Amino acid sequence: MIYKPTTVREAVALRAEHPDDTVYLAGGTDDLRLGSCAEGKDLIDINGLLSDTVEEKDGKLVIGALCTLQTLRECEKVPAFLREAAGFCASFVKRNSATVGGNIALRRQDSYMAAAFAAANATVLATSPDGDREVPIAKYLACDCACLLRGFVIDPSITGRVKRFGNTAASHAAVIAAQSGDTYALSVSGSGLAVGSSPDIWKTLEYQDDLTGSADYKKYLAKIVFEQGR
Ligand SMILES: Cc1cc2nc3c(=O)[nH]c(=O)nc-3n(C[C@H](O)[C@H](O)[C@H](O)COP(=O)(O)OP(=O)(O)OC[C@H]3O[C@@H](n4cnc5c(N)ncnc54)[C@H](O)[C@@H]3O)c2cc1C
Repeated sequence: MIYKPTTVREAVALRAEHPDDTVYLAGGTDDLRLGSCAEGKDLIDINGLLSDTVEEKDGKLVIGALCTLQTLRECEKVPAFLREAAGFCASFVKRNSATVGGNIALRRQDSYMAAAFAAANATVLATSPDGDREVPIAKYLACDCACLLRGFVIDPSITGRVKRFGNTAASHAAVIAAQSGDTYALSVSGSGLAVGSSPDIWKTLEYQDDLTGSADYKKYLAKIVFEQGR
């Protein structure tokens, strides 16, 4: 079944009413694939309820949760390293449907955007039945709340860099590393996300062998990836 709420409040209330049996439907690249975590669940269609553009507000950039990775990639107002991260999704067809909100909400360890947003000190605009709030992205990613994400707020003037390691452009990433100023972020397959003010954040993770590579390989990448910029 697909629910078609007409307001954000209605969507959030539906999700709260059926926490184990529903997921939000944004671009559908994950929800509508076989074997996704949405299988067997009802969908709450949020298309049309949230912004799908990048807007300037009070000196900040607000990226709507329904903004696709392709829109983000093409938007010249967005800092270059965040646009580059959106391009880690190698398929144009997927980039053109996959939303930034869906990407972050999935909390994947190979998330295209999580490390770059964390290095950018982005904040998340989230709505729950208790109301609206704005939280640092690293805090959101570390919790398991099922809030509706409305958008992401970033400083448009930040600079930074992001790097992805994977067997191919279309495989799961082994390591994604991003840095902006004194903020460092590492997404490591099997280990999760580490964010901090030192390039030594690699020491805080426990490394696992998995299909993206051995624990030693990923630990090596995580250790050396920031050295170039020191
Ligand atoms: C073959 C394949 C490979 C993939 N590889 C990767 C990869 O390497 N890295 C990666 O990061 N992703 C990958 N994905 C997953 C997915 O395509 C992306 O993460 C995408 O950005 C999800 O966005 P979407 O809008 O399509 O989400 P949807 O499929 O619409 O939704 C996915 C989930 O996110 C939640 N959600 C969506 N929007 C919101 C919102 N605004 N607020 C709260 N919750 C929300 C939903 O509840 C749902 O459970 C892959 C998918 C496929 C099919």
